[in-house]
Amino acid sequence: MAQTKYIFVTGGVVSSIGKGITAASLALLLKSRGLKVFLQKLDPYINVDSGTLSPAQHGEVYVTADGKECDLDIGHYERFLDTKLNRLANCTAGAIYHDVIEREREGAYLGSTIQVIPHITEATKARIKEGAESAAADVAIIEIGGTVGDIESLPFLEAARQCRSDFGSDQTLYIHTTLVPFVDAAKELKTKPTQHSVKELRSLGIQPDMLVLRSKQPIEAEVRGKIAAFCDVSTERVIGCEDVASIYEVPLLLESSNVADKVVERLSLPAGRPDLSKWRGMLDALEKKGEVVHIAVVGKYADYADAYLSTTEALRHAGASIGAEVHVELVGTDRLEREDVESCLDAYDAVLAPGGFGARGTEEIIAAIRYARRKDLPFLGIGYGMQLAVIEAVRTLAGREAASSIEIDPATSLPLFTLEGGQSDQTRYGGTMVLGEQPVELRGGTLAERLYGESPIYERHRHRYQLSEQYTNLLKEAGLTISGRHAESRVVSVVERPEAAFFLGVQYHPEYASRPLRPHPVFTAFIEAARHS
Ligand code: GLN
Repeated sequence: MAQTKYIFVTGGVVSSIGKGITAASLALLLKSRGLKVFLQKLDPYINVDSGTLSPAQHGEVYVTADGKECDLDIGHYERFLDTKLNRLANCTAGAIYHDVIEREREGAYLGSTIQVIPHITEATKARIKEGAESAAADVAIIEIGGTVGDIESLPFLEAARQCRSDFGSDQTLYIHTTLVPFVDAAKELKTKPTQHSVKELRSLGIQPDMLVLRSKQPIEAEVRGKIAAFCDVSTERVIGCEDVASIYEVPLLLESSNVADKVVERLSLPAGRPDLSKWRGMLDALEKKGEVVHIAVVGKYADYADAYLSTTEALRHAGASIGAEVHVELVGTDRLEREDVESCLDAYDAVLAPGGFGARGTEEIIAAIRYARRKDLPFLGIGYGMQLAVIEAVRTLAGREAASSIEIDPATSLPLFTLEGGQSDQTRYGGTMVLGEQPVELRGGTLAERLYGESPIYERHRHRYQLSEQYTNLLKEAGLTISGRHAESRVVSVVERPEAAFFLGVQYHPEYASRPLRPHPVFTAFIEAARHS
């Protein structure tokens, strides 16, 4: 096999300028040329993984098939690449330090002083290589989280710098993404922040090979030329990437600037001709005006657009595939606390209760689920949303007001959801839940089985609590059918309400498996039901 090529994507000026989307888009363009691509994000924070992070901090926690709790960019990677990445796709500084310290305790470095250089940098480079090798990749694209100039990303940038001499100049490429702001007072795009950012990067020993300039509007050749001259990057490798309506347009925008061809040429990659016809078709469907369907996602983090990112994306993928224009709105539990449920949810065609943790906001979500049930609005409950839907039904329809989860009330007299099996003696947080793809057996003749058309199915899980077997009779009293169970532990995984237009609760997270080119059947059926409600 030819040697793997390594592309590093760094960011400057400000955070959140879409390094992840740039990396994912380039990956898609290279894949469409027949190359095998692995994507990896190095996150500079000290958390060992994203598992214990609040969605209010970095957006949703994404889960890989092999059970790693990741940064949400890994979700973009999988959606753009239409593939399953493994746990090496995301690595934090904390994980690297953790490994190095663990090895030090084991005596692996007896006698040595453990230092950022070489120990942390060597461990980082080992992760980079391991990731690429795990996928037998022709190209590994490594996104370095944070912004150049941050103290905490320095070891990663140093590792990236060393890769050029370790792997060779022909094997490595550095892409720097910056913001080119438009200053209203001067009515012009300002290049200075980019110049400073590149200067900063060069002071760390990295000369970018390509610049991707993010801006509100297209950047003229003259401005690109100026940046090229100041930054020692040839004008043709200074790429404008203006804001577009959908993130899925970015690959086509980059393709129109021949970004992938330039990368292929620079790295002498054996690339074929790209075929982006399916992607274009998907984008057309996504942007086509159709019948509007309004979906309410009822959760704690309504002020954080990224908190339910995979879920809102999955709803849009599904809508596009059936010609419905999906408008997703986050209805926060804070608002539900202040206003009555009718006024909050009146305008929607369907209600989705997403995953979540902790007691706060649960009574409001339960009230929203009750409203949806009474109005016979299509309902989809995911993770916590499924658990709260079961609690709502048992409280209202089986007349057991006390029904709860020990996550909400540790002293409840009716703990429908409890800690069992491996979870009951768990004292540590982080990577200790039921995680990743698990087999779920679906019962014949149920809605779930009809939607999937097969059994067992494999879906990604992330939960600590589970439905206690001793109360399953109460589900029946509440009009709920158990339509799926974990194939091994037999824990209840899917519930439905046969008498409803559409009512499904899943303990797992189908949103992680939805792809723009392959929408998930559960979401498609949910949108279809919403369209008819
Ligand atoms: N908090 C619940 C649990 O731990 C549900 C988690 C989730 O929604 N993924 O079981």
